[in-house]
Amino acid sequence: MADRVAVVGAGLSGLVAARNLQTAGRDVVVFDKGRRPGGRANTRKHDDHRFDHGAQFFTVRDERVRPLLNEWLDAGVVAPWNGRLIRASSSEVEPAKEAARYVGVPGMVDLALALASELDVRTGVRIETLLRKDRAWWATDTDGENHGPYDQMVIAVPAPQAVPLLEAAPDLRSKAESVTMAPCWAVMVDFDTPTDLDFDGAFVTAGPISWMARNSSKPGRPRTEAWVVHAAPEWTRQYWNVDRSELPALLLQEVANRFGRLPPVGFTRAHRWGYALTEGSTPGEVLTDPELGLGVCGDWCVGGRVEGAIVSGIDVAQRLG
Ligand SMILES: Cc1cc2nc3c(=O)[nH]c(=O)nc-3n(C[C@H](O)[C@H](O)[C@H](O)COP(=O)(O)OP(=O)(O)OC[C@H]3O[C@@H](n4cnc5c(N)ncnc54)[C@H](O)[C@@H]3O)c2cc1C
Repeated sequence: MADRVAVVGAGLSGLVAARNLQTAGRDVVVFDKGRRPGGRANTRKHDDHRFDHGAQFFTVRDERVRPLLNEWLDAGVVAPWNGRLIRASSSEVEPAKEAARYVGVPGMVDLALALASELDVRTGVRIETLLRKDRAWWATDTDGENHGPYDQMVIAVPAPQAVPLLEAAPDLRSKAESVTMAPCWAVMVDFDTPTDLDFDGAFVTAGPISWMARNSSKPGRPRTEAWVVHAAPEWTRQYWNVDRSELPALLLQEVANRFGRLPPVGFTRAHRWGYALTEGSTPGEVLTDPELGLGVCGDWCVGGRVEGAIVSGIDVAQRLG
């Protein structure tokens, strides 16, 4: 019988790990607490509105990711985004560095959905404890249901969420504990009329905003004037407890202060990401304990970002193989 493997987390790291382990002949099940896979590379739908409210795009530098990229481009679940991007400090604006940038189509989440379609992914299941007993793993969810036994366990969640699941491996747990992740308020907005902004995306290097993008400039999106604005970590921490309904006006005022008057707002929503991006140093590699049949992956292991998540999924599957 094939070895049974459980993966906790259906973000891109967990899905890539699961896919590679399944390809290597394992019997794999993936659990995620969310309503659907994708984690931070997700897309929010409200009636006709669609917004990539987490990861905006990804780049590929690692040769191990290129074959996957080509496969996704051929399948049409990923496409290049040729938006006009700028880098804006508090006083200056310059064109952003040239780079090949890719997005999921028609939303960032569609990459995760394509990966998940070939896997046994169980959503709405939050794993609370992991137990290693008689050389096997058992997982208990928050409804008290036990899942197992599994020969191997992969934890593919943000570092602070991995810590309570790593009781059986104190060395790996202390590495996860040393990683900090910055929060991010994201505001989704559809304007009634086009804005005067002459860019599709801005890396903002100072002040309350860290990034904003015309979501509708990405391929396959509805042609409305839909934007996503991300607040900088310090601003997010300062406004962490502000009511979700009041947050959009506050952040959009900051956008107007920096880039000028905005048209009337048709639709807005705010989303609070608790663990958006890795801050400071990372372990630099995925964490494994072959004796325990345990692997830990996720963007935070290798430096953050979508490509890091994908690389970590490839690595953890290889090391457990
Ligand atoms: C606002 C924002 C902007 C970003 N912008 C970019 C960008 O432009 N480019 C880029 O490359 N990257 C960007 N990133 C980072 C990128 O989204 C991440 O690097 C990547 O998606 C992480 O994937 P992951 O699989 O490591 O983790 P995640 O996507 O966080 O997946 C972890 C999954 O685990 C699940 N989970 C957690 N705990 C449990 C539990 N106990 N039981 C069950 N399930 C659990 C969660 O629901 C989640 O689905 C951004 C992130 C944010 C939030």
